[in-house]
Amino acid sequence: MTDYPEIAARFARETAAHEMTVLHDSGLYRHLRFKTPAFGSIYSFDLVTWPGCLTIRGDMHEAYTLNRLPDMFEFFRGKRINPHYWSEKLDGNRDRVMKYDQKLFETQVKEYVAEAIRDGWAPRGIGKAVHEEILDSEYLSDEHEARKLLEDFEFGIGYQAKCSCKASADFSSYSDGVLWGSSHRRQSSGDHEVTVRQSKGFTFSDVWEWSFSDYDWSFLWACHAIVWGISRYDRVRKYGLQKLAVGDLVASAVSEGRCIKTPAGCGKPLIAEDGTARVFWDEDEAQRYEAEWRITGLCPDCQDALNDEAVTS
Ligand SMILES: [Zn+2]
Ligand SMILES: [Zn+2]
Repeated sequence: MTDYPEIAARFARETAAHEMTVLHDSGLYRHLRFKTPAFGSIYSFDLVTWPGCLTIRGDMHEAYTLNRLPDMFEFFRGKRINPHYWSEKLDGNRDRVMKYDQKLFETQVKEYVAEAIRDGWAPRGIGKAVHEEILDSEYLSDEHEARKLLEDFEFGIGYQAKCSCKASADFSSYSDGVLWGSSHRRQSSGDHEVTVRQSKGFTFSDVWEWSFSDYDWSFLWACHAIVWGISRYDRVRKYGLQKLAVGDLVASAVSEGRCIKTPAGCGKPLIAEDGTARVFWDEDEAQRYEAEWRITGLCPDCQDALNDEAVTS
């Protein structure tokens, strides 16, 4: 199974400055909002849970509702995304999260041809013909058209007419084989049973069994958003800060470039009036603290204080 790293990277990029607002938090009834205020609704999403269900709705193709456990946060918490299994938990038709993927079509066609060449049954010139008639076609973006091209494709087809008396002949068309059969029977005495079969050539077989679909980016993005959103929520809860994330307390601390007010934080600006700021080991450490600040509103010093408390208590 693939982890869809491109979608993961895209999600990380698009939500890097997201802030969480707890709009409602009462047992299994929760409503969390994630957004970058400067972006408005772009890339924003809401997670809503009630017993047995989780809905994610936001800047995606559509909303998704999944159901499995009474607490759906428990179902997703800390998991790697699993689109196959999770799509089985969707309300409604799971096929809607699958989408025709032209690249997948092209890859499968090439693999099939390469295998036929390796196995020695592909006629000479097959690669060129497949390119000209299928891969270079301008209709590949439509699954129906693409499938039809595959189904209709044939190359280097030959037929062999064979008689029960062991006489045989090769032809390039089926009807020529049949004609040979009838003249052979006329010219011979006794019983002659002629059959005409395709003896060589290349076609794509069982095309109806091939699948050219993969998960829609929107669903994959939603899978990442669910796991990520839950982990943000859990961290805020670990600090006992979920009440502070209600309303705009965290958001305004972040927009004013400071720590949230006492008692949870110290209220101090992240960059002091004399221009000094905390120095970090490296860019990674700085980014970790910044991400945490955007979620909790806590400056690095207050984050450390809380972490120390969590360790000692
Ligand atoms: Zn015969
Ligand atoms: Zn602070």
